[in-house]
Amino acid sequence: MKKYMKIIPLGGVGKIGYRNCTVYESQDSIVVVDMGLAFPEGATPGIDFTIVDTNYLEKNIKKVKAIVITHGHFDHIGGLVHMWQKVPVKLYAMPFSMEVIKSQFDYKKAKMPTDYELMEFGKEYKIDKNFSFEMVQVMHSIPQSGGVYFKINDKKVFHISDYRFDDAPILPERTNYKRLEEIGNDKLDMLLVDSTSAFSEDNPTETDVKENTLKAFQEAEKAIAICCFSSNVSRVLMTLQLAEMLDRKVVVLGSSLQRMMESAVRTGIIDAKLVEKVARKTEDVGNIGREKLIYLGTGSQGEEMSAMARLARDELRGVRLKEGDVLVHSATAIPGNEDSVWDMFELMAKKGVEVKARHNGYKIHASGHASRKDLIRMFHIMKPKVIVPIHGTTQHMHEVERIIDEQTHSVPCTIAYREFIQIDEENMLEVHDFNENKLLKETGEFAVDGAWQIPLEDYFIFRQRKFMHEEGAVFISMALNKAGMIVSQPSITSKGLGDEDKLKEVYTYALTNIYRQMKANNMDRAIKDIEKAREVVRIAGRRAFIQHRGKKPMTVVDFVKI
Ligand SMILES: [Zn+2]
Ligand SMILES: [Zn+2]
Repeated sequence: MKKYMKIIPLGGVGKIGYRNCTVYESQDSIVVVDMGLAFPEGATPGIDFTIVDTNYLEKNIKKVKAIVITHGHFDHIGGLVHMWQKVPVKLYAMPFSMEVIKSQFDYKKAKMPTDYELMEFGKEYKIDKNFSFEMVQVMHSIPQSGGVYFKINDKKVFHISDYRFDDAPILPERTNYKRLEEIGNDKLDMLLVDSTSAFSEDNPTETDVKENTLKAFQEAEKAIAICCFSSNVSRVLMTLQLAEMLDRKVVVLGSSLQRMMESAVRTGIIDAKLVEKVARKTEDVGNIGREKLIYLGTGSQGEEMSAMARLARDELRGVRLKEGDVLVHSATAIPGNEDSVWDMFELMAKKGVEVKARHNGYKIHASGHASRKDLIRMFHIMKPKVIVPIHGTTQHMHEVERIIDEQTHSVPCTIAYREFIQIDEENMLEVHDFNENKLLKETGEFAVDGAWQIPLEDYFIFRQRKFMHEEGAVFISMALNKAGMIVSQPSITSKGLGDEDKLKEVYTYALTNIYRQMKANNMDRAIKDIEKAREVVRIAGRRAFIQHRGKKPMTVVDFVKI
């Protein structure tokens, strides 16, 4: 069989943190890198999140040999719990990532894949005689992150999703520069690379963040509250270390942070002795004065049910922040979350809590993604023949292209968006459009909606939901006898349109309208065509609400046969 290699980004391009899932395919085997989720957007109200369609993998299931996980962020692992049953192949992940995956399966009460392997950095995993991969350590905002280095036929491709360079990290782990240089010196054919922070010039180190956070902590005279992502183990460790220095006690708020901390201890990333000193419950604080406390919680995005947002609303049992306390925001608001973060800050400020965050000049956060400087450094180490930006919007990916143009004229850059890439035996690079190859049909997207998975193309359900949300709903029901005659006055109820008493007048208009239209359609005595009658009643009823309530409610008509 003719040898070939294909790279199909089922997800992970076109938006940031967007259900990463990339297919690496040869003539004999397929390996999938990551199975992430994306959080819902306005057009799909009510859903939990979206995942990619696994149809392509299911159709080629005999070829699919492995799923490899780069790191434990939800945009890389969050889809697994819903997708793995459809693609039940061996799962490869680093121990910390596997811990996060396990707790996700536990949380969803799903059965964890039994066939999995805890990976080691630097070890070569052979899938078949022409296909192998290796995990190479890079730094990111979660422990044990890696890039996947593939050797497929005689081609070498390096998939580095989320990474940054940090030469002064807090966690006891480092980028494996030696291995990166070896790979770079070994003639790399293609580099897939993180474009998330392509627009930022530079990025502080985690040690810079720690020093600035120390200053912010030292300014506090009373209690300190600090919020970060639960998976940002570096910030958790930083907080524990600063608490030691300042002789304060850390109180961890929220179960996700506690679980993540336990995972970090189990995998040897954080010293168990440091964690032992932490209070897990507010009752454990005893009579320690508030000037000796640091509350560490999730909620850096102002998420409604997070510990920090509940603390801001005074809803957390046994803890209150007061005048003179300090809130340290150890994160940035992800685009789209600015309002909820600001609302949380406002609630804190109204209590007299001093908010220390990016907007008022505190440099207490560093991104986990490669800045322009980091990208240039990576390109110089890797010297790849082709660079494919991933993990960004079209503008981010184009920015990487611009950086390459300015810096390294010899490196051609290909943007992969809804395309797949094929390198043939003559080392020609081909980029095929999904439409042209009829692949688009096989690479749709699904909304995880409670217990169901709904194709996003089923736009109707989401439109209906949005409609009800904005315009309210009206329910009209009529009782008919066997002959189809109306035996009682139609009943009208509504939701989301206002007080029933106030709506009585509109209901009367609606009834008059319904009777008039039924008469005009010869339905006032007996109904022969139920579907036609349903439409006549629906339009007549709805029109009354448009005219007298100024809304266009979703109108549901029900005939009850008695
Ligand atoms: Zn990511
Ligand atoms: Zn990530």
